[in-house]
Amino acid sequence: MIPLVAPRIERLQPYQAGTSMEEVARRLGLTSSDIAKLASNENPLGPSPVAIAAVQRALGAIHRYPESEAPSLRASLARRLRVTPEEVVIGSGSSELIELLIRTFCTDSEHVVFSDPAFALYRIACLAHGVPHTAVPLAAHQHDLRTMGRAITRQTRLVFIDNPNNPVGTHVGHAALSDFLASVPPEVIVVLDEAYCEYAEAADYPDGLELRERHARTVVARTFSKIYGLAGLRLGYAVMPAELAGYVHRVRPPFNVSSVAQVAGCAALEDTAHVERSRALNSSEKAFMRAGLELLGLKAAPSEANFILVDVGRPTLPIYEGLVARGVVVRAIPPRMLRITLGTREENERCLSGIGAALA
Ligand SMILES: *Cc1c(COP(=O)(O)O)cnc(C)c1O
Repeated sequence: MIPLVAPRIERLQPYQAGTSMEEVARRLGLTSSDIAKLASNENPLGPSPVAIAAVQRALGAIHRYPESEAPSLRASLARRLRVTPEEVVIGSGSSELIELLIRTFCTDSEHVVFSDPAFALYRIACLAHGVPHTAVPLAAHQHDLRTMGRAITRQTRLVFIDNPNNPVGTHVGHAALSDFLASVPPEVIVVLDEAYCEYAEAADYPDGLELRERHARTVVARTFSKIYGLAGLRLGYAVMPAELAGYVHRVRPPFNVSSVAQVAGCAALEDTAHVERSRALNSSEKAFMRAGLELLGLKAAPSEANFILVDVGRPTLPIYEGLVARGVVVRAIPPRMLRITLGTREENERCLSGIGAALA
């Protein structure tokens, strides 16, 4: 018999989404609003009220196909980011853009470089499309740009740098990234995945858009899923040279972003007060959680994002299960780590007391 799928698909492990609130609520006999979901780096304040109102106004027209090229959203982003609309590509989450970049620019005789650990989709998309890749271990919780540079071969087409890194939260500073970009061979495309850039507070956190002059083939990918609170609508964007965007558009499925998502994105960009509130909450809760974990004798890695990675110093899964039993869902990263999304003060307090109880 001819095998149903190629060996690379047979071996593929599906992406492990954070445990769903509905699933935990069912297990505990609670409603999902009683669960503190700190597993997927969503905004604990929810979506912008301005975006919700815009979505409600748009619902009467959902019998129509969306505008395939998302002209209003691209124009609005281009204005804000001081780029041209031709340099902006919209995706169904930045996940789709990451996969589109791999599908557009790589074949099975080419090569991709990223860190380990990093956003899991880089590896999954390479495996799914049969693209050889090198995952360079982080060094002391940081991207090891020197080793990543050495991993670039004549076959390398793409390098992914999640800045800040997921799941650790550490960032690459301006000088190091600038030097790296200048050193990369001109034909290689460097993707700066800035899903959490709006949360970054470090003085040397670089704006990837400003570093494009160091390396022409730089792509900056961002999302509406994190600080903008629109994860459920699936919306992301990438800024890249118009030449690259032209090729991505050929591969992009038509109508890949819903009309509702496009309208919500435009509205969310206008609501700068919501972004500001979200950033301020994250900043204070990061300090609160870090201090709380320290009181429990636990150390968290430095983070410029809306989550922290903590070493629980013993097997993760019993601690994780202890938290779930108290209605707190975080991300288990075995063998000894938890990645905790920063929630509201009440959620964070529940998380800390849950960890304390599970450790005792
Ligand atoms: C969450 C995340 C994304 C993308 O999420 P989408 O919902 O697909 O936009 C991309 N990169 C990193 C590093 C992330 O953590």
